[in-house]
Amino acid sequence: MQLITLIPGDGIGPEITKAVTAIFAAAEVPVQWEEQNAGQTTFDASGELIPQALLDSLEKNRVALKGPITTPVGKGFRSINVSLRQKYDLYQNVRPAKTTAGIASRYADSGIDLVLFRENTEGLYSGLEVYDEKLGIADSFNRITREGARKICRAAFAYAAKHGRKKVTLAHKANILKMAGTIMLEACQDASREFPQVQYEDKIIDNMCMQLVMRPEQFDVIVTSNLFGDILSDLCAGLVGGLGVVAGANIGDDMAIFEAVHGSAPDIAGQNKANPTALLRSALMMLHHLGQHDKADQIEQALNLTLQDKSKCTGDLGGSASTSEFTQAIIANLGK
Ligand code: NAD
Repeated sequence: MQLITLIPGDGIGPEITKAVTAIFAAAEVPVQWEEQNAGQTTFDASGELIPQALLDSLEKNRVALKGPITTPVGKGFRSINVSLRQKYDLYQNVRPAKTTAGIASRYADSGIDLVLFRENTEGLYSGLEVYDEKLGIADSFNRITREGARKICRAAFAYAAKHGRKKVTLAHKANILKMAGTIMLEACQDASREFPQVQYEDKIIDNMCMQLVMRPEQFDVIVTSNLFGDILSDLCAGLVGGLGVVAGANIGDDMAIFEAVHGSAPDIAGQNKANPTALLRSALMMLHHLGQHDKADQIEQALNLTLQDKSKCTGDLGGSASTSEFTQAIIANLGK
């Protein structure tokens, strides 16, 4: 039985977590949850934002499923997500975006099926900032290391090769960010030599944004640096139905945290209205990561069937069902 650290999070986190664990139990997925929370609720109760018990659990189990966490604005809190990514070198942020029958979007008929690899620990999110109060100047450093670039570019190509994907596109700004951009370009060129069966192209980030909006179906695997990836990953989510339905994972060489990428939705918390699809899809990515492909496929099939019946879907998907009704409908569709 695989032990998984379960971080319910804040706001709607506990409700969507309950939905996922109920579906996993009904599908008899051989995992055991070890619950350890972090975030605002934990801070209010214990004075700790990330308790040591959670870190111990992560270091023991090496795999976690995480709900959304409230990040208080302007209280000096460092984002828990950013802290965990950097502490455990979870250098890959992997975000699939695929059109799904039953999920409305402007591109519903486009057949989008792409996976974005965002570098997750460096770039403008390195935390290297200097503010000179006298001069009124803030400098944020866009640190890109050869090793960091090598690892994320190689991960994107290795994923493409393993999953029979045809093409990797690097999104960059090497025409202006000559040094940092060139490191990413060279890292991708090296990776493409290692995986010659995968086609490689690069696009300047501004053109990439336009292409993604005009003809998203041309993309397969995308790799990019941290800030560009943060923006592109939400753009890609918007192409296929929004943050409430897309999965996300933070992956390192020896630890992976799968997470809902939307926030804690305080406006609907505790009302049995939240859509658990994003967390469920992240949990299915986790099952694939653990090699439990059959269980993942079985649950995905039940989810896809449920999404096609609006009467069983939550409000954000155009239905009127509660979180628990949607969850029960997925369970009823298991094995169909
Ligand atoms: P949000 O994603 O929580 O909510 C934006 C809108 O989307 C709200 O109307 C909300 O009701 C809706 N929504 C989000 N998830 C939904 C779901 N699963 N089902 C149905 N509706 C859903 O964004 P926000 O309001 O900007 O942020 C709220 C808090 O979440 C903030 O403290 C923010 O820092 C935090 N946050 C955390 C994460 C994370 O932990 N990964 C990500 C983003 C925001």
